Amino acid sequence: MINRQLSESIKNLMPARARTTNPDKPVSMWRERDRLRGFPENTMVVIFRTAGCAWYNFSSCSMCGYFNDVASNITPENLKNQIDSVARSLGDVRVLKVFTSGSFLDPLEFPPEARDYFFRSIQGKIDKLLVESRTEYITESNIGSLRDYGIPVRIAIGLESSNDQIIRNSINKGSSFSKFVSASSTARRLGYELRTYLLFKPLFISEKAAIADMIQSIGDARGHSTDISVNPMNIQKHTLVESMWKKGLYRLPRLWSLARILLETSDLGAGVVSYPTGGNRERGIHNEENDPELLNLIYDASLTQDFSGLREYYDSADRSSYEEFIEAEDINYDQPDYTRLLARIRSSSTLL
Ligand code: SF4
Repeated sequence: MINRQLSESIKNLMPARARTTNPDKPVSMWRERDRLRGFPENTMVVIFRTAGCAWYNFSSCSMCGYFNDVASNITPENLKNQIDSVARSLGDVRVLKVFTSGSFLDPLEFPPEARDYFFRSIQGKIDKLLVESRTEYITESNIGSLRDYGIPVRIAIGLESSNDQIIRNSINKGSSFSKFVSASSTARRLGYELRTYLLFKPLFISEKAAIADMIQSIGDARGHSTDISVNPMNIQKHTLVESMWKKGLYRLPRLWSLARILLETSDLGAGVVSYPTGGNRERGIHNEENDPELLNLIYDASLTQDFSGLREYYDSADRSSYEEFIEAEDINYDQPDYTRLLARIRSSSTLL
């Protein structure tokens, strides 16, 4: 199940202690657009401050820096104070997305007492709720009673890839495609919707292979998902991905590739969306030259599920140098970030 060498490399980069923070305040709240009810609308997003992901404490995923937002010794009282902040901030928004730097459905991370308080606090105010969870917490005994609050829930699972080799040797997710299928089946049988997260371009695979992996994974996951969110890699602090990226040994994916994935899967009826974190920035997905229009078209197509504008832009652009690069890179054993690597060599840094 676990690649121990990869797991050790990730653990060695973890900070020694969680930062001191206010346990009565969520990490952050903001509004953003999404289509959880089948049309684009404003949603409220909250990141609750919790003790964090149990998997992180055990091993952690290679790209995950969510532990930067956790605090130890968070009590149910602290969570209730955070929940009060959210309930006060909802305004006219009817859709709420909840992140916890871990799993909302983990009863040790978000205890049943706080969970109950949360659902009662948003009853009558929210028409659709999205919560995130690892697969192991999606059991009938743990989530069956959530239906009783009468709020439609979409559970989001980070499958990342349907390829178990990638899950194990590039991501260290501590899960598998079959566990995802089983969790999805339980959630859907109990009446919940399911959003599947996929990770575009994890460590140790070329961009060409990563594109193929996303297209394959979307095909594999679509029968088990209400919708699928393709999340391109972004560089988070104190992670193995950051460590390799800084050395020039990892290159972020291109926006052209994301557009291609969306266009090739848009007619599968899978409800594929992508709202890239850090798009067109140094630590997020970007083309060689920044392309704000392409990023906007990706957002718009995701929100509206009308891909015609994105297709027109994609088909009319000269992508020859990008395509040549992707093909040439794929032949290499490694796929470094040449710009960063050369900068390091020029500054006489050691490579490792
Ligand atoms: S399961 Fe999610 S929260 Fe936990 S370490 Fe992996 S990416 Fe981070």
